Amino acid sequence: MDNYTITIDGPAGSGKSTIAKILAKELGLTYIDTGAMYRAVTLLALENGIDVDDEQAILDLAKKVKIDIDNHATDADKYTSVTIDGRDVTGPIRSREVGAAVSMVSKLSGVRKYMVSLQREMAQGAKAVLEGRDTGSVVFPDALLKIFLTASLEERINRRKQQLLQNGQKADRALIKEEIIHRDKIDSGRQDSPLVVPQGGVIVDTTGLSIKEVVEKIKRLYGEKVHG
Ligand code: C5P
Repeated sequence: MDNYTITIDGPAGSGKSTIAKILAKELGLTYIDTGAMYRAVTLLALENGIDVDDEQAILDLAKKVKIDIDNHATDADKYTSVTIDGRDVTGPIRSREVGAAVSMVSKLSGVRKYMVSLQREMAQGAKAVLEGRDTGSVVFPDALLKIFLTASLEERINRRKQQLLQNGQKADRALIKEEIIHRDKIDSGRQDSPLVVPQGGVIVDTTGLSIKEVVEKIKRLYGEKVHG
């Protein structure tokens, strides 16, 4: 495999999307927001009144539709554009309802297996940067550079709040804190593909670092890998 792939995993609010989009732009990589895909499937389940643990029904529904995510998103301040059968769901997949249910849907092995196959297909033949929870441990364990991005809980809450406000959404600190803790607990504790530092991964703690400092650090690590 002509391997120039970067994976970025980490807990909610650690800055994965922002960093991945900037890296994609500056390094000319295809950007794959895997969380947006799990969110789209969750929205579908909620819209269709399907129980979040009804694996077969969710999978059947997901396979019937076409989920498109913008793999050329470069605006770090905006959410990745997502459509389901051509319908723009960029806003709805970021709702509180989806945020509260997405980790339950993401626990389902059948759903994960299907999403991973789509993600590998998307990245095939491209130099890509993927971000999510299992992109370095499961989707591309042989990626050239595997980053585990993290930050203190306080900082992650502040960032999520900023992101919501920037996108014109309501941002209640207590609710954000609750959602982040709840999601991280399920994402890290699930049986299939839990959030872990991937083997050979590099932990980057972004607490107190600027976006530019984080980007430069990862670009340096990438350069070292590319040039041996
Ligand atoms: O990254 P984002 O916050 O949009 O991810 C939403 C949720 O999707 C995560 O909390 C997690 O439950 C799920 N997810 C996952 N595996 C990924 C990406 C996201 O399980 N690779």
